[in-house]
Amino acid sequence: MIVVKIGGAQGVNLPAVCKDISALIKEGQKVVVVHGGSAETNEISTQLGHEPRFVTAAQGGFTSRYTDRTTLEIFAMVTSGKINTILVETLQKNGVNAFGLSGVDGRTMVARRKEAIRIIENGKIRMLRDDYTGKIESVNADLLKMLLDAGYTPVVAPLAISHESDALNVDADRAAAMVAGAVQAEKLIILTNVPGLMRSFPDESTLISSVAKKDLEQALGYAEGRMKKKVLGASEALDLGVNSITFADGRVEHPIVDALSGKGTTIS
Ligand code: ADP
Repeated sequence: MIVVKIGGAQGVNLPAVCKDISALIKEGQKVVVVHGGSAETNEISTQLGHEPRFVTAAQGGFTSRYTDRTTLEIFAMVTSGKINTILVETLQKNGVNAFGLSGVDGRTMVARRKEAIRIIENGKIRMLRDDYTGKIESVNADLLKMLLDAGYTPVVAPLAISHESDALNVDADRAAAMVAGAVQAEKLIILTNVPGLMRSFPDESTLISSVAKKDLEQALGYAEGRMKKKVLGASEALDLGVNSITFADGRVEHPIVDALSGKGTTIS
């Protein structure tokens, strides 16, 4: 079982990714796909006149999207509506019977809504309410396995449902980690628009090829911005029993073949 996370950043070679997934499935592998949609949500939000806003958490310094109700609906429209459908379409063109869903469907991903977030703004700590984001607490692995056993390939959009049944925006890297843990995947491949984790971004000659679990803290120090979430997701996936997590280039001719052959950054 392999979980493939497809980044929302521009440049990922979708036809090539889908072709590689199709080849894996023909070899008898089971694959679950999780995707993001951040870059496109920014674009469409701007086009709709609702400028995206990002906030930095007071604790840990992680940056995340401020998701008011309008942003949540735009996020759902872009990720669940457009990106998920196009991914399913491209997989179908490659002979994969892909089945699109988000974490809201069948309560596939249940998350705790962050009622109030402490953020730093202009050097001051402030509480943010009315934010529709959450941290995933459980994944309905039975539902994903049911689809896999029936010959479908699940394609999961990064929305979860809260305990109060509100749809929430969740981080796609961490969602992929939770899914990989829940379905007991051996590997998690995180495809993005860089060759992997660099010690000194953007200098590609500083690409790190492997990171041991004990060195994750140090690796987190090299990551900036949203790359931090990938390192955090990798750490969570390891804790859930996933053997290895690879950050790999999704822009190339054979993104998954390359990732499986050791290109990119592998955390194990
Ligand atoms: P995706 O949409 O594919 O999930 P993100 O934009 O969330 O991708 O994260 C990937 C980005 O992280 C890269 O495009 C790069 O700009 C940034 N980044 C920050 N620090 C690093 C680093 N140390 N090594 C590689 N990429 C980094």
